[in-house]
Amino acid sequence: MTKLMQGKRGLIMGVANDHSIAWGIAKTLADHGAELAFTYQGDALLKRVKPLAESAGSDFLMPCDVEDIATVDAVFAEMKKKWGTIDFFVHAVGFSDKNELKGRFADTTRENFVRTMVISCFSFAESAKRAAELMPNGGAMLTLTYNGGDRAMPNYNAMGLAKAALESSVRYLAVDFGQQKIRVNAISAGPIRTLAGAGIHDARYMFAFQQRHSPLGRGVTLEELGGAGLYLCSDLSGGVTGEIHFVDSGYNVIAMPLPDALRA
Ligand code: NAD
Repeated sequence: MTKLMQGKRGLIMGVANDHSIAWGIAKTLADHGAELAFTYQGDALLKRVKPLAESAGSDFLMPCDVEDIATVDAVFAEMKKKWGTIDFFVHAVGFSDKNELKGRFADTTRENFVRTMVISCFSFAESAKRAAELMPNGGAMLTLTYNGGDRAMPNYNAMGLAKAALESSVRYLAVDFGQQKIRVNAISAGPIRTLAGAGIHDARYMFAFQQRHSPLGRGVTLEELGGAGLYLCSDLSGGVTGEIHFVDSGYNVIAMPLPDALRA
């Protein structure tokens, strides 16, 4: 392993279990020398997140529900107290009501739309503002998005709008924090079987379709997402900000499925 992240400290928000994209990124960062702090959403997840954090050499865990801004404030206050400064922040948080991750977008309720936007989009801006205060020497911020923000995907609905707004936030925050030498980027991940992913109706069909029709003809792994996370959180990507970086086996570039006659 390299020492790319040696001497760097950062916060990982969004580990639920060992299938979480946040975990794939955290593990890779830790493997390359990073010191990590983790948040977890409620006591039910603590028993899953704690052993993972320990395996990455961390005992710095804090509860956080982004719907409750007091818990977000408490996280950054604790980080300031314990570490003073940080070098990176990874936000891998998303939620929309399962009952509305199916059917028509037109049937989205106002309540779920607002909740989806607050948790899946605005929580990044709210946390980034607080994280930037702990980055006097610059740093890197990273969030997770999906191609359903650019194109209409069946059943993704309000989450697609939240991802579109999240990607726009990446660009605005990159401008806001650029003068402070803080870079802000997103990874647009191909489908991964996670708790959040499983909430989307007919997720299996979506996974299989994207795997079959992506140029590489396969899905992506947590390790590959971890590698992209390492690139975007480390000095390797020093000149990159405001970027939406696809790690999706190339699915986003196709206009139509490859005909069977052209398949190997
Ligand atoms: P996951 O279920 O492992 O992670 C989602 C995380 O969001 C969980 O840790 C959960 O606790 C957290 N969360 C939800 N509501 C929260 C709240 N109110 N406060 C604090 N935390 C909250 O699933 P994942 O797929 O790893 O999701 C991580 C990110 O990746 C999400 O933004 C998701 O939209 C995005 N993403 C996922 C896929 C995929 O196919 N799984 C593809 C592209 C992007």
